[in-house]
Amino acid sequence: MAKLLIIAEHRDGKLSVATMELCRIAKEIAPGLGLEPAAAVFSKDDSLAKEVAKYIPEVFAVSDAAVAAYTADGYAQAVKGVVEAKDVKGVLVPHTYDGVDYAAKAAMAISAGIVSNVNKLAVEGGKLICTRNIYNGKLQETKSVTTDKFVISVEKGAYDPIEAGAAGNVTAVSVSFGTIRTKVKEVIATSTGGVDITAAKIIVSGGRGLKDADKYKDTIIPLAQKLGGEYAGSRPVIDSGWTEASRQVGQSGKTVTPDLYLALGISGAVQHVAGMKGAKCIVAVNKDPEAPIFNIATYGIVADLFEVVPGIMANL
Ligand code: FAD
Repeated sequence: MAKLLIIAEHRDGKLSVATMELCRIAKEIAPGLGLEPAAAVFSKDDSLAKEVAKYIPEVFAVSDAAVAAYTADGYAQAVKGVVEAKDVKGVLVPHTYDGVDYAAKAAMAISAGIVSNVNKLAVEGGKLICTRNIYNGKLQETKSVTTDKFVISVEKGAYDPIEAGAAGNVTAVSVSFGTIRTKVKEVIATSTGGVDITAAKIIVSGGRGLKDADKYKDTIIPLAQKLGGEYAGSRPVIDSGWTEASRQVGQSGKTVTPDLYLALGISGAVQHVAGMKGAKCIVAVNKDPEAPIFNIATYGIVADLFEVVPGIMANL
């Protein structure tokens, strides 16, 4: 049977959560499309392929020095190799920096249609329907792919990661790589040290609505401490130096899934939401009733945060 293939993402020998999210999606939607779920792992050896096999029944391992470090050329060629060798119809990649980098190139290489930044996939009448946010999260659109083959990049956090189960099969796939035009000389961490907000159960996050560094420090940090959680912020807060980079939530920051996420003075831009929509309970405080954060908030308070926060503090 033809395959629906997810491309595993990994760094420093560890799988990213996005890999387990894609495994869940592939297992859920493949049957409706008449496909079998499978994964491909591109790495220097097959150790991670064995790890991925705990989440999906079939794994294709391309173990080659050409993909020991991530490059768009290497990954696109590896995708093409697996698609041609294993009768793959659909490819799911994470909508991450790397995924965005190689998805279109891979689609070109296999003559596939592509839909990017998808946050929901469904099968209707045997057709794959993709939902994605547009206009900064104010609207959603649905698209279906009409080409024989397709590549979809899926937003991080859109689905829960699947739990490990019985081990699946790992099959080696040999790919003859052509020219790879980039060479990774060094991978430099963007932030060294810093707090790991991804482990926090409660996060109090502030946005540009905090106005300045002093108000951020006087409002967000005491509330976080009183609740026994961590404090965080949207990108403007980090760009303005109100707190350290390791506390940025969002597409170019951390993805967090706390039990409680308090979003104070944050508009809810899609790049921020990408990093926190997996929180179990989201409480948003914003003066603007039309702020997009209210579309995903469990509880929304339309008010001035500088009036709401002292009220909360007084009651804790
Ligand atoms: P704003 O959008 O300015 O919103 C401030 C909000 O505060 C407004 O809704 C306003 O109504 C409200 N407000 C003002 N005063 C008060 C008050 N007194 N009480 C209550 N509410 C008040 N952003 C991220 O956060 N994380 C990312 O990782 C990230 N990555 C990005 C990557 C790319 C490639 C790009 C292009 C952008 C990225 N961004 C990211 C930026 C993102 O697009 C938004 O610009 C950003 O999230 C907006 O931050 P904000 O909500 O704090 O500010």
